[in-house]
Amino acid sequence: MEYFKLSFESAPCDEGEGTKYVKRQACDKCGVHAVPISESYFVPEDGVEALALESYDSDLPGIFEAAGMLIARTQFAEAIARERITGFKLRPVHILDASNDVPISGYSWLVVTGRCESNPVWRRTVRVCPQCQMETTEPVQAATRRVTILNPKPVEDVFRSREQLAGIMVSDAARIAIVSLFPDHSNEISFSPLAQE
Ligand SMILES: [Zn+2]
Repeated sequence: MEYFKLSFESAPCDEGEGTKYVKRQACDKCGVHAVPISESYFVPEDGVEALALESYDSDLPGIFEAAGMLIARTQFAEAIARERITGFKLRPVHILDASNDVPISGYSWLVVTGRCESNPVWRRTVRVCPQCQMETTEPVQAATRRVTILNPKPVEDVFRSREQLAGIMVSDAARIAIVSLFPDHSNEISFSPLAQE
């Protein structure tokens, strides 16, 4: 089985005003806000309760990444699900065409529910708060290690790891489904093979 990191050429939407974040509790010593995490993984979806996006282009691609989240035209998302691709659930996303203040309908948020084990991507810790143990790290540019999928291998087709920098990853089955549904994908989406233990 092969696994791939999903990358998009462009992010045609920005975060919109209606985005609601999961309630956070601030540490009174360092001010870092802690978010409840699902299982032992913290993934970007954990921080977002409701997703709203703004675009200046009403002609959006069939599938894209915006504000770190995976968005697709609902009919494509449902077609991917019909191919028995697992590891995501559909939730609403509100997209506003900001050039004329008109909502863009027909898109869904593919919430990535699959998880995998991967090697740590190095980040330099500057300090650790003595009260909440949260780390302050250098900017992500300092993280350069190649992502490797570890055992046990992911059982779902769309997944994330503990390391947010690994991004959204897919199985070969998901790659084939996406490529067949988006024949003009090569301008927009790329799949980089991931190393495996
Ligand atoms: Zn703290």
